Order: sequence, then structure tokens, then C-alpha cells
Amino acid sequence: MRTPLIAGNWKMNGSTALINDFGSAFADVSLPEALEIVVIPPFPYLEAARQSFRNTPLQLGAQTLNPNGSGAHTGEVSGRMLQEFDVTYVLVGHSERRELYRESDEQVFDRLLAALHVGLKPILCVGESLAERDAGQTMDVVLRQVGYAMARLEPEQRQQVVIAYEPVWAIGTGRTATPEQAQEVMAGIRAYQAGFSTTLAEQLRLLYGGSMNAKNAAELLAQPDIDGGLVGGASLKTDDFYAICQSA
Ligand code: PGA
Repeated sequence: MRTPLIAGNWKMNGSTALINDFGSAFADVSLPEALEIVVIPPFPYLEAARQSFRNTPLQLGAQTLNPNGSGAHTGEVSGRMLQEFDVTYVLVGHSERRELYRESDEQVFDRLLAALHVGLKPILCVGESLAERDAGQTMDVVLRQVGYAMARLEPEQRQQVVIAYEPVWAIGTGRTATPEQAQEVMAGIRAYQAGFSTTLAEQLRLLYGGSMNAKNAAELLAQPDIDGGLVGGASLKTDDFYAICQSA
């Protein structure tokens, strides 16, 4: 009932050559029809990706957006600009944005709302640090991040949001959450959404992120509340990313 979604977050990596590799590698692939695949390259590659992905099932995503529509915001990119490049998804609240660029829950929410206003589908990223997990605060932290945004949205806006649970200690570390650890948190997020509406909870797409790779993807994706993945490092190689898509 929920369409699986695999998204590759290239972060500040990649090149025009890699875009073209993906365009060729995914031109003639057999993948489950009910599967969405999104590649999320840095801004400068969006136009090349749009061209190169034309004959592939790959959709385009962006890594962030500025909450303002336009104006004096040197270095920033608005949602409307992203839309011009056929971007469909946009990450908000990635832990690297929260940590390195000090984005607060409030700023994450502003970006999420800006995305919804121009018809982009936000992927809201949430997750606890290792210290928070060790202190037994995982669910509190995750539901605070989810709740800050969800409580401020209208019911029909909530349906547009995809949530990615990415334990910070698993991102780029090679240390994946066990399927049980991930499932436990995902089930908690879905139960929280049921507080708004059971239909919303049933339809919510939940992605796992944090050192997902070709080897561990199938086991993670087999969990009842995991509907897809947000893949960093392993999304930079066509073979690995394709293998993950096949596990979905
Ligand atoms: P990783 O990154 O797969 O390299 O751990 C995931 C992410 O940050 O989205």
C-alpha cells in the first residue's frame, strides 16, 4: 500500500561524470514498478541530472532550500528555483544541516513549509546522537523533532511529508542500526502520527538512513515500518545503489 522510496543523498560529492554514469546505468534497468528512486545531487548538477535521467526511473531531489521565495539571500536557493529543474523531493533537517549549520527545529519547519508551498515533497530527517541514545532519550528526541513540524501543519500538508529516521551515530560511520533498533523507532513515529489520524499513520512513508548499503538493505527494508532508505555513501556508486533499489 505504501510505495517504497529509495533516495540517494550525494551530500557535497559527485561530478558531471557521475551524473552521466547514473543516467547510463539506470537507462535499461528492470526494477519493481511500484518503487520511487530519487537522486539528490548538489545544486550545480541538477540541470545535467535532469537531462541525463530523462530515460530512467530516477527522480530528482535537492539537499536543502531557503525558506524565502526570493531576495537578498546570497548563496541560497529557493523552492521555486528547484521546481524549475524538475526537482520533486527536498531534504529538510538533515543532521548535518542541524549540526554544522545550526538549523533549529523552527528553521527546519520553515523550510518544510516553504517546500510544501511550492509543491515540493519534503523528506524530514530526524534522529538522535549517540549520547542521546545512551541516555535513553532516543524516542524523546525523535518525537520532539517529528512533533515540532507535524503539530504545526494542516492535515492535508501532513500527508505530503516523508520522514527519514537517521540515527546520527550511524551516518557515515559504517555502524548501521540493527533492524530491530530501527524498527522500534519507526514504529514509535508511526504510532505518534496515529495520534493525528490512523489513515495518516498508515500512509506515512518512513525511510531508514545511516550506513545503509547493498549488504544490509534487504534486512532493514524487510521491517514492517521501514518503507525505504535514505542512502549516503552507498548512493555514490551505480552498482551499490542499484543493488539497494533491487532490495526494495
Ligand atoms: P550514510 O549517510 O549512508 O553515508 O551513512 C546517510 C545520510 O546522511 O543520509
